Amino acid sequence: MSLTGRTVAVFALGGTISTGTDPATGALVPGRSAGELLASVPGLDALGVRLRVHDFRRLPSASLTLADLDALHRAIAAELDSGTVDGVVVVQGTDTIEETAFYLDLLHQGDAPLVFTGAMRNPTLSGPDGPANLYAAVVAAAGPWLRGAGCVVVLGDQVHAARTVEKSHTTSPAAFTSPGSGPLGLVAEGRVRLHQRLPHRTGGPVGNATVTKDGSVRVALHTVTLGDDGTLLDLLEGRCSGLVLAALGGGHVPEWLVPKLRRLADRIPVVLTSRIGNGPVLTGTYGYPGSERDLLANGLIPGGDLNPYKARVLLHRLLATGCHDRTRIARTFAEFGDRGV
Ligand code: ASP
Repeated sequence: MSLTGRTVAVFALGGTISTGTDPATGALVPGRSAGELLASVPGLDALGVRLRVHDFRRLPSASLTLADLDALHRAIAAELDSGTVDGVVVVQGTDTIEETAFYLDLLHQGDAPLVFTGAMRNPTLSGPDGPANLYAAVVAAAGPWLRGAGCVVVLGDQVHAARTVEKSHTTSPAAFTSPGSGPLGLVAEGRVRLHQRLPHRTGGPVGNATVTKDGSVRVALHTVTLGDDGTLLDLLEGRCSGLVLAALGGGHVPEWLVPKLRRLADRIPVVLTSRIGNGPVLTGTYGYPGSERDLLANGLIPGGDLNPYKARVLLHRLLATGCHDRTRIARTFAEFGDRGV
């Protein structure tokens, strides 16, 4: 189908895709404007898509904050409220894209797709993937195929749901995967080909709620390791408002951590996820001390198949909007973490 006359708002936040060489050090730093990025994309003009370009931030994605993302959400909502924008592209660094896209997915209302993209290979390398990714993202955002899909991530011509996508390699252009479910679709020959039904979205209540105490919310993430003696868990006592535990395997910890986790779970929500990042945490298989059954009986909340980073984003959002009720938190995690795609 022709995309001529469709309108896409593009927000550039920085990242490898926007880097240039710092003459003083010879190292890469984010530098190119959104306009420069778009001008570097072969064939983009010929699509006939009208672009509304926003130079939003020029940062490595590690330095983006949830406050930046709240501001981005407001700016995107303003564009969409104009009623003249068919879709949105967010261009940013890939290091945090699995978290930023999921966060925006929680907040985003309406049917217009929000397409996140970036680059694994910087512009000074042969075969930089930034221009191709940007082209594919504009196609995905401009067309009708992803309406109602919420936030997606498009890299290497693959379309991934924000809820499932993970950065699975430090350098490969094929770094982005959706473990367990696979990509939603593919961008080829100027259109999106869907491989599966668009994900059912549950963002509504979480996204609509008003932020009451963002600044004071601190959600810790603790990765359990072989021989973990619990010293770091002790240090967290009284210092955070929520904890995501990236446990071993299907949701297991050394048995001596259980009393410490119980103490924490008595005071703050503690969400059980797996450090594996592929597959759900178990809820009813093993019964030994430190098993998933033991942890859940001691007050931990199952995170389903949300990876630890996404679980942390969701818990932060719940706490920042004043939701401290354990039952409501557990119900929300059940909705987000226990559904198929
Ligand atoms: N360090 C970069 C960033 O996330 C990596 C990238 O863009 O791929 O900003």
